[in-house]
Amino acid sequence: MIATGDAVLVLNAGSSSIKFELFEVPDAPPPIPRFAGQMEGIGAAPHFTARDATGTRLADRRWDNGEAPGNHRAALGVIIDWLEGVLAGRRVAAVGHRVVHGGPDLAAPVLVDVAVMERLRDLAPLAPLHQPHNLSGIAAAAERFPGVPQVACFDTAFHRAHAWEADTFALPPEFYDRGIRRYGFHGLSYEYIAHSLAESDPALAAGRVVVAHLGNGASLCAIHNGRSVDSTMGFTALDGVPMGTRCGQIDPGVLLHLMTTEGMDAATVQTLLYGQAGLKGMSGISQDVRDLEASANPRAARALSHFCWRVRREVGALAAALGGIDALVFTAGIGENAAGIRAAVCDGLEFLGIVIDPALNAAHAPEISPPGARTRVLVRQTDEEGMIARHVLGVLQRSENA
Ligand code: ADP
Repeated sequence: MIATGDAVLVLNAGSSSIKFELFEVPDAPPPIPRFAGQMEGIGAAPHFTARDATGTRLADRRWDNGEAPGNHRAALGVIIDWLEGVLAGRRVAAVGHRVVHGGPDLAAPVLVDVAVMERLRDLAPLAPLHQPHNLSGIAAAAERFPGVPQVACFDTAFHRAHAWEADTFALPPEFYDRGIRRYGFHGLSYEYIAHSLAESDPALAAGRVVVAHLGNGASLCAIHNGRSVDSTMGFTALDGVPMGTRCGQIDPGVLLHLMTTEGMDAATVQTLLYGQAGLKGMSGISQDVRDLEASANPRAARALSHFCWRVRREVGALAAALGGIDALVFTAGIGENAAGIRAAVCDGLEFLGIVIDPALNAAHAPEISPPGARTRVLVRQTDEEGMIARHVLGVLQRSENA
């Protein structure tokens, strides 16, 4: 039983980091954010930071002795010890987890039990760099909060209503039946944007919206009437547009060439595609757009120019998937903050009615298209953790009513 004033903890466990956010259960949704933070550098040089809802930093800790948390379990221990100090007696009534892959069937958040954990473990080969860490976050939280409901929320779930045409590869059907198909990711971010649009502008939310989630990981999603129609990410979170260190779409013939003609093994190719490509690989400087914008090295400008070209192409492709476009929404670290990237992406999309006002764009206004524009261009902050917290309350309410 969850009650007003209880706490909901949201965890987002990545390969070397755990992000967390603590919410208070309100009388009526949405949950109220109270504290957030992260442990970065797990396994190397851990760094713990935490802040309150106003952004005031409350903790900043590094370790210079042998007591540094060396794995996810130990890192979660540090996070929870810190949270206990600020919880002031409030009970953690549920823990919500971001889980990258729910497979073909898990189209909504679920209460985790032994059977669900087994199913999620079976999906690990589909997301080898993310899923095992997500699951170790669940295991560590279950150990630390015995008996407290754990809710898994999937990055793939929002895309599960795609038509078969959007999700199949042009392979014999048995491959699709074996799960070799397009799934789409960043679903919690897209779902949050769709929700917040429905709240702030229901008429627009009922229309055709392309959302560009441009962060370290980047993808775009075509949404019609609040539902995902197609997305640029496919079988894995490698596909689509270039990212911080990931290549995005690449001709599969390149991989065959690298492996057969150049003799690269699978592990080397994996490292190249996930870790040595994208903005970092192209520029040779950094995966961070801020560094590239500040650099005088022509490789930095070329990397950004290619990135914008590919994002622009995908806006066009997704507008075609929707049969038109009523709004383009920029979100995530680059989408929310990089005015120059937004301008370069939109430059050339006038044929879709996409025009931006330079002053509104420079000011990061919530709407950067001029008043009366045929296609509205918006900048929205995403909130995957907030979306997870809402899901946790929904799942618990449904299970209590069942
Ligand atoms: P993640 O996918 O790790 O959640 P974010 O959505 O936080 O990533 O995006 C991080 C990226 O956003 C950074 O690597 C950087 O490229 C970009 N970014 C963040 N702030 C700015 C800024 N002020 N100007 C330009 N780019 C920014």
